[in-house]
Amino acid sequence: MTEEKPEEKMPDLGDMIKDLSEFVEKKYGGKPIVNIAPVFTPPPIQGGPGKKKKKEKKFKLEFDYTPKQVKEYLDRYVIKQEESKKVLSIAVCDHYNHATHDMGNKTDYDYTKQNVVLIGPTGVGKTYLIKCIARLIGVPFVKADATKYSETGYVGKNVEDLVRELVQKADGNIKLAQYGIIYIDEVDKIASAFNVSGRDVSGAGVQRNLLKLMEDSEVSLRDPMDISSQLEAVMEFQQGGKIEPKIINTRHILFIVSGAFSDLAGIIKRRESRQMVGFGGHVGEKKPDSRYLQMAQTKDFIEYGLEPEFIGRLPVRVVCEELNEKDLFHILTRSEGSIIKQYEASFDAFGIKVAFTKDGMREIAKRATLEKTGARGLLTICERSLRDFKYELPSTAIKRFSVNKQLVKNPRSALKKILQDPRSTDDSFLRDSISRFEEHFLNAHQLKITFTPEAIEAATRQAEEAGISIEKFCELVLKDYPYGLNLIKENSSEQEFIITKEAIEKPGVTLSGWVKEAYRGGKKN
Ligand code: ADP
Repeated sequence: MTEEKPEEKMPDLGDMIKDLSEFVEKKYGGKPIVNIAPVFTPPPIQGGPGKKKKKEKKFKLEFDYTPKQVKEYLDRYVIKQEESKKVLSIAVCDHYNHATHDMGNKTDYDYTKQNVVLIGPTGVGKTYLIKCIARLIGVPFVKADATKYSETGYVGKNVEDLVRELVQKADGNIKLAQYGIIYIDEVDKIASAFNVSGRDVSGAGVQRNLLKLMEDSEVSLRDPMDISSQLEAVMEFQQGGKIEPKIINTRHILFIVSGAFSDLAGIIKRRESRQMVGFGGHVGEKKPDSRYLQMAQTKDFIEYGLEPEFIGRLPVRVVCEELNEKDLFHILTRSEGSIIKQYEASFDAFGIKVAFTKDGMREIAKRATLEKTGARGLLTICERSLRDFKYELPSTAIKRFSVNKQLVKNPRSALKKILQDPRSTDDSFLRDSISRFEEHFLNAHQLKITFTPEAIEAATRQAEEAGISIEKFCELVLKDYPYGLNLIKENSSEQEFIITKEAIEKPGVTLSGWVKEAYRGGKKN
């Protein structure tokens, strides 16, 4: 008698992963599943019942920026770091010009990839620089800490994961991912000479693995350590009879590594003084650490503990400077990526207008400097100052307030005052908004203007009716004033201008009246 076998049916992929995960966890005591999954590499079968191969979309990255254009873009967002912005702009143009015109091995010259090492303390804009570059060019960007990786990938992550992450960031577009930027921070911590951590992070091994990636290598998009991507391959094989090789080439991926390299300056100082003594001279004047770091040579990095081949693949070296109080103030007031915008938007979502005054921003910058975390300190201070406002104000009728020096110094008492007397915020908010506009006008057009109290009142009313901020309203209503007031300035001794209620209510008529009077030699306003 033959036993009837139940029909064999392939379970659903999700169920398979679940079952296998449970089994592995039970058997191996909850060890991360990714560490013990088998690698499935079935042989390719020709002529199987596979689906027709999808036609691959043609993709070509467009790149036609000059170094100056890249630097100008960076200037809009990144304050200071002039030399870094310049060096990076050149390196990025070289890299992408080469990548977009690369014809495989047909180039008749040897090209050295412009991978970059960025040196500098925390919060000075290293990551921000690279993020801005990736955004300008339109390529995916991934950031990781070197200390999270290990040589084998069995404990800690495998560096190849970074390449796979690029594909995720590019929404599965492998071609675009192949032009992406991989940013690896804390590389100084995997320098073997300084590797004092307990577990074997095998820094040199990680460097060697990174080295392979930095060159022209191929990474499978199926993570051999990941059970689900292996099972996906099994399913594909079952359904289609073959497995599509999903490979990403690292040839055009730009690698940026960074770190504080805090002891590197000391190594360079010692080398310099040895050289001076060798030449019969004496040690010269004391320089700040950043000046020494700018003189870093390959041998200094090797002495620091980086593998010679690894640092050899990072020909572009960039040193970012520390940021002082004035720089932090400029980050708030001038950077297009200023966190002030973020705060304005988050209050605006509750219909609350917030005006950061100049003295308020100076106080934020002053306190942030004491945090010693670079520009990151700005966020810390803003959060500390505004957290309770974010919590309380949305459930009140208060629709505007100013972030001034008193508020930053003592947020609690400022909040108490506003909650007790909601109208008290109105006057100061309006004055502060108008002062900001007056200052903006002076900076942009070199014209000093002052609003009368009646003009402030009229502007406030009309801005409210139009549903826009006072500053935006003033900008629109006085759009012809820079030109007109400059005409007056040229034809009279007038240096300061009073913006009256009439100027707000009838801007065109008022301005032309002033101009005519100036030409007649009379007084304007
Ligand atoms: P790190 O140097 O540690 O990589 P980041 O670039 O991550 O520092 O800086 C944190 C944040 O601080 C950035 O996202 C950016 O908003 C701000 N920031 C830092 N440096 C600058 C700078 N030079 N100009 C403008 N903003 C900056």
